[in-house]
Amino acid sequence: MSTLRARYESVRSGFEIADAGFLVLRFIALAGTVGWLLVAPVPRDTVSTFLRIAGFFLSYCALGYTLLFFRFDRKRDTYRLLLLFDLSFVYLLVVHSGGFASSFFIGFYLLTALHAFYYGYRSGLGVAVVCTVVYLLAGLPVSAFEPIDFLLRVSFLFLIALPIGLLSAILRTDKEKIESLNRDLTDSLESLKRLQGKLLEVEKLSALGRLTADVAHEIRNPLTAIGGFAKRLKKHLPENTAEIEYARIIVQEVERLERILRDTLTFSREARFHLRYADMNTLLARTEAKLSDICRERRLLLAVRQAPGLPSCIVDDDQIRQALDNLVNNAIDAMADGGTLVLATRTACENGTHYVVIDVSDTGPGISPDLVQRIFEPFYSTKDIGHGTGLGLSICKKIMEEHRGSIRVSATAGGGATFSLFIPYLPVEEIFKAQCWEVMRCGVDTIGNAAEKCPAYPNYGRICWSVAGTLSETKVHCTAAGKIGDCRKCTFYEIVSPSCPS
Ligand code: SF4
Repeated sequence: MSTLRARYESVRSGFEIADAGFLVLRFIALAGTVGWLLVAPVPRDTVSTFLRIAGFFLSYCALGYTLLFFRFDRKRDTYRLLLLFDLSFVYLLVVHSGGFASSFFIGFYLLTALHAFYYGYRSGLGVAVVCTVVYLLAGLPVSAFEPIDFLLRVSFLFLIALPIGLLSAILRTDKEKIESLNRDLTDSLESLKRLQGKLLEVEKLSALGRLTADVAHEIRNPLTAIGGFAKRLKKHLPENTAEIEYARIIVQEVERLERILRDTLTFSREARFHLRYADMNTLLARTEAKLSDICRERRLLLAVRQAPGLPSCIVDDDQIRQALDNLVNNAIDAMADGGTLVLATRTACENGTHYVVIDVSDTGPGISPDLVQRIFEPFYSTKDIGHGTGLGLSICKKIMEEHRGSIRVSATAGGGATFSLFIPYLPVEEIFKAQCWEVMRCGVDTIGNAAEKCPAYPNYGRICWSVAGTLSETKVHCTAAGKIGDCRKCTFYEIVSPSCPS
């Protein structure tokens, strides 16, 4: 039943005006034949012949529409098959109703018109030729041949086929254009919605960031005073008393609050980066040196894999180190019972943009898919209360976005996790080629300075679409990209024709 309903739905969705035309033609043919039998003075034995012809008509129509129902995707072939039966049907009507003199010859007009409309003028002319032959075959044995009359009638077949076929070709082209415009419009609306969503999220986060920074500043001074007084109090209190224990707790908690404040301020602070070329393998080597003792203490195996010949990237290496440290700390915390920590570098290419990637993998309990969606949210933490501020991954994400890159996670519940920092870079041979602000003249034409206007200036002008445009994983910074909604429609994108080596 459900299969039949599914078939019905597919037929309904693909049913066109021409299909309706074919169906209506059949009803008209049947009604015309029955009407003619009822009103015309037809001899009794001729009536039975016509009833048999009508039966033949109904049978092949039923067969044809059953075929159409089950193979609607092959409807053009089914209509061709039905054309053979239709020609036979009109042939029989003409033969049994007076040959050339029969009024049923108009059946040929209907067939020619419908096929010209459905298949175009070439097929229409072909059907007109076949109808001419069938009409001749049907008329000759029955009645006298009237050449002028015959030529006049068949010439109309061709006069019908040509304009209707041409008109249908124009309609079909227009329909395809409208469909393609509709598709473009739907795509544009979808990307506009996506951009609006991103913009809203960014605005909310930046408002929240400003508020958080203000509150953090206000809290910091009294907190420093409380911590200082608690430390002094601890020095003056006698050992092994409840009071010194209280003072120790106050000092510990103040230190924890200071950590949270530091992370909060890092997260909400305006970026002030010092970008320069840096080698990510060197960064990894420094982290390895720092980690060896900790890993030994925690019974962790440390594996470092440096990709050879890694290109340098333009980064603030202190910031990237902070992101890397956060990921490493999380990985170590995730392997409380020992395991393997892997740090690796590699290169990747997406949307024609090259990246240096730093992977941090652990063999901890992994992350379930529903948590993966939330781990980059500020203050979201899977650690016990008192451990971590819930800002570590948000800070990593912020640092990567400010480097026009991204952070990704691949994890399964029970199967460990890998966090990857994607840092975009321009291959050396690309650096001196035309940049996006030179082509798009963003800011150059208005304020004469791309530096103030172009978000990809000065380092990413050949990969603007994936660092500041619509193919980036963060918000759209480029004004042109915001307007056109898709960098792939941008002149600069077309000029560069980005691609990745296969
Ligand atoms: S629209 Fe996209 S491709 Fe064009 S300049 Fe902007 S970011 Fe680059």
